[in-house]
Amino acid sequence: KDQGIQINDDLFPGKLVGEHDRVCAYLQFDVPEGEKLTVRVASSFIGEEQAWLNFDREVKNKTVADLKIESAKLWNSMMGRIVAEGGNEEQMKTFYSCLYRVLLFPREFYEFDKSGKPVYYSPYDGKIHAGYMYTDNGFWDTFRAVHPLFTLVYPEVSERIMQALVNSYEESGFLPEWASPGHRGCMIGNNSLSLITDAWMKGIRSFDAKKALEAMVHQTQAQGREASVGRNGFEEYDKLGYVPYPDYVEATAKTLEYAYSDWCLSRFAASIGNVSIAEAYEKKSQNYKNLFDPSCGFMRAKNKDGEWIEPFRAIEWGGPFTEGSSWHYTWSVMHDIQGLAQLMGGHEQMGAKLDSMFNAPADYNVGTYGFVIHEIAEMVALDMGQYAHGNQPVQHAIYLYNYIGQPWKAQYHVREVLNRLYNSGPKGYCGDEDNGQTSAWYVCSAMGFYPVCPGQPEYVLGAPLFQKVTLNLPNNKVFVIDARNNNDKNLYIDSAKLNGKKFTRNYLTHDEISSGGELSLKMNAKPNMKRGVRPEDFPYSYSVYKP
Ligand code: CA
Repeated sequence: KDQGIQINDDLFPGKLVGEHDRVCAYLQFDVPEGEKLTVRVASSFIGEEQAWLNFDREVKNKTVADLKIESAKLWNSMMGRIVAEGGNEEQMKTFYSCLYRVLLFPREFYEFDKSGKPVYYSPYDGKIHAGYMYTDNGFWDTFRAVHPLFTLVYPEVSERIMQALVNSYEESGFLPEWASPGHRGCMIGNNSLSLITDAWMKGIRSFDAKKALEAMVHQTQAQGREASVGRNGFEEYDKLGYVPYPDYVEATAKTLEYAYSDWCLSRFAASIGNVSIAEAYEKKSQNYKNLFDPSCGFMRAKNKDGEWIEPFRAIEWGGPFTEGSSWHYTWSVMHDIQGLAQLMGGHEQMGAKLDSMFNAPADYNVGTYGFVIHEIAEMVALDMGQYAHGNQPVQHAIYLYNYIGQPWKAQYHVREVLNRLYNSGPKGYCGDEDNGQTSAWYVCSAMGFYPVCPGQPEYVLGAPLFQKVTLNLPNNKVFVIDARNNNDKNLYIDSAKLNGKKFTRNYLTHDEISSGGELSLKMNAKPNMKRGVRPEDFPYSYSVYKP
């Protein structure tokens, strides 16, 4: 009946082409009562011709029912790579809802040309290129478990993402840290380095490694237009060994994340034979030590003259930290947990520090935020002391018990978080979703392991939630985690076998999983504490504990 476009509040009837920010097109139909109108729509970031190709590929000759069947099939094939068994209905719903959210991001920003080859409009240089591009992903969140889960279970997706990262560098001069769809000034760190190194170490090598190395080094030695693109404060970081506060906001969080990224870069460089870069960045990866204060046992901020910023309050949020406090960032040394334990005085002391995080009252000081940000409110509501699972920086911390000879404490807390902080209902989420990261924590933990240090091809064991999990990997290998006497009470691993042989390590290597096999676990209601820790150390309680 009518057609046109709308720009802001102005209507332009009859027109169907318009170039402007926020253009919207409208079509009006006369539909007699009782009749149905089916509208098939396709779009393209490239142009009209490509939109018609997309139309033919995606919706032509298809009904809504066809599309429903098609997408159900696709979701089943993707989610069917992980088969969980032996949980109750609620646990199954929660698990697969989490897996669904993990798989929603990043978005594919590429289309297929006439010959079926991938092609994309680059948000970085405005040109059309052959190959892959992805968008809508904050690596500050997703480097932790989302991308490691991809490298393990969906490696073909990781392959394309890594190629897209190199493409982004070639088109913009930087690796993305928060693409949406171009560079976005959001969050901190150089976690793109973690993505590339993790994928590389796990056998994903279809991208240009030399170009990637160049991009990674450049990322640490330059600053883009936005503070979060490249490395904010890189000159001071290189000169002082830390980012000074208050010259730079979130300076302590930045230092810790840079040190981890430097370790990633060093591993990647070593793996492709560049010894000088490997050594230089290995050295820089130790910079986290510059911000640990042994007198209080926390990471804290220093000014440019090397003095601690006073007064210090471990419960103070913001300022030198990003959406967290010293309680959450002191553990951000994924690449050198033994070094961190040494700073803290040894394994016993680090264990006590971890215990105290759960036992401390959920007190807070709003710091530079000036008000209670939702992450603070969530920490208080979750009622696990200073452990703030609703936000990302601390999400690996439970697993650190494995590094200090107290794996049963990791098993205990993992089960608590799985049971208490997630469910399948509208209130079943404990804080930030963040492109699937908080879901990826659940998926990994419910399977029984977690990638504490992406870039290290290992997965640290917790204890599975299910009696059986089968990973149907795309290389036709199958890995099974069998814990048949697992239940609400038997939450501790008593003993383990890998492929029928006694297994005493508390981590699995990437190869052990990806080459297929079976980890069988004997579960028990009592923790197995054969590692020389006194029984009275456990169980201990949270400040207010209401399962
Ligand atoms: Ca977050």
